[in-house]
Amino acid sequence: RAKDEGRNNYQFYTPSVNQEGIERLKMETMLRHAIERDEFVIYYQPRINTKTRELVCVEALVRWVHPELGMIHPKDFISLAEDTGLIVEIGELVLRKACMQRKKWTDLGLPLFRISVNLSPRQFRQLDLPEVITKVFKETKMDPSLLELEITESAAMQDVNLSILMLRVLKDMGMTIAIDDFGTGYSSLSYLKKFPIDVIKIDQSFIRGIQNRDSDDAAIVRAIIVLAHTLKLDVTAEGVETWDQAYFLEEQNCDEIQGFLFGKPMTPKTLQDWFKLEHTDAAVGGY
Ligand code: C2E
Ligand code: MG
Ligand code: MG
Ligand code: MG
Repeated sequence: RAKDEGRNNYQFYTPSVNQEGIERLKMETMLRHAIERDEFVIYYQPRINTKTRELVCVEALVRWVHPELGMIHPKDFISLAEDTGLIVEIGELVLRKACMQRKKWTDLGLPLFRISVNLSPRQFRQLDLPEVITKVFKETKMDPSLLELEITESAAMQDVNLSILMLRVLKDMGMTIAIDDFGTGYSSLSYLKKFPIDVIKIDQSFIRGIQNRDSDDAAIVRAIIVLAHTLKLDVTAEGVETWDQAYFLEEQNCDEIQGFLFGKPMTPKTLQDWFKLEHTDAAVGGY
C-alpha cells in the first residue's frame, strides 16, 4: 500500500485511485439505470419453525439482473446503493415487489406466512419511512401483519433513542420487527430491552462454529437464545447448513431456522414447488 511505503510513492498510486473513482461512477450510473429499467428481482428464502416444521416467513433478498453482466448479488451493490442514497428507492421497490408477491401467494391459496424485508441503515433513518410503507400497503392491499422488517443490530444501535421511536411507530402499524445479524453489533442489553421488537436473528457467523459443542460459538448461541426468551422474543438462526446444526438449535429451543439446509433463496415459482414438495413428501424436512 502507498501509505506503508512512504510519501514519495504516493504519486505512483494516484492513477489507480482515479480508476477506482471512475469505476464507482460507472457503477452508480448503472444502478440508476437498473432502477429505471426495473432490473431488480426478488428471491425468497424460507424460515421454518424448528418444532412444527411450518413455514413461518420468507425473507425477500434482492438480486440485480443486468442485461449483460447477469445476476449481481447484494454484496456487490448494496453498499454503493447505501453510500449514494439509491438504496432508498431500491428499498421501496423491493418492498412493493414483496407485498405484491404476498398477494399473489394469497390468491394461489398458500398459507399466510410472513414476508420479511431488509431495511438498510439509511432507509431506517428516513423520517418518512412509515408514510412510504403506508403508501405501499395501500397500493398493494397488503395486510401489515404479514410483513416483517429486518433491521441490523448495528443500524438499530446508531441512534438508540431515535431507533426506539421509529420501531415503536412501525410496530404500532402492525408489522413484526426483527433484529438482523444479531451478535455482530455490540448492543447493550439495557437498550435491547427497550427496543419494541419481536424477533432476534442470530448471525450466521456463530452458527458455523456450533458443530463443536464446546466452542465459544456454541456458548454464544446458547446465551443469545436464553437472553431472547428472557426478553420474550423469538429467536431465528441464520445460515443453517447441516442437520447437526439444526439438531443443536432444536435442543437449545431456538424457535426458527433459516439456511441452505431447508432452502436457498429462490424465485417465487421455485418457492411454490418447494412448498408443495415439503407438504407432500413427509421425508423432506421431517425428522
Ligand atoms: P441478510 O439479511 O443477513 O440475509 C442472509 C444472507 O445469507 C443472504 O445472502 C442469504 O442468501 C445468505 N444465506 C442464507 N442461508 C445461508 C446458508 O445456509 N449459508 C450461507 N453461506 N449463506 C446463507 P444474500 O441474499 O447475498 O444477501 C446478503 C445481504 O444483503 C443480506 O444479509 C442483507 O443484509 C443484504 N440484502 C439483501 N437484500 C436486501 C434488500 O432488499 N435491501 C437491503 N437493504 N439489504 C439487502
Ligand atoms: Mg436479513
Ligand atoms: Mg442476517
Ligand atoms: Mg448480513
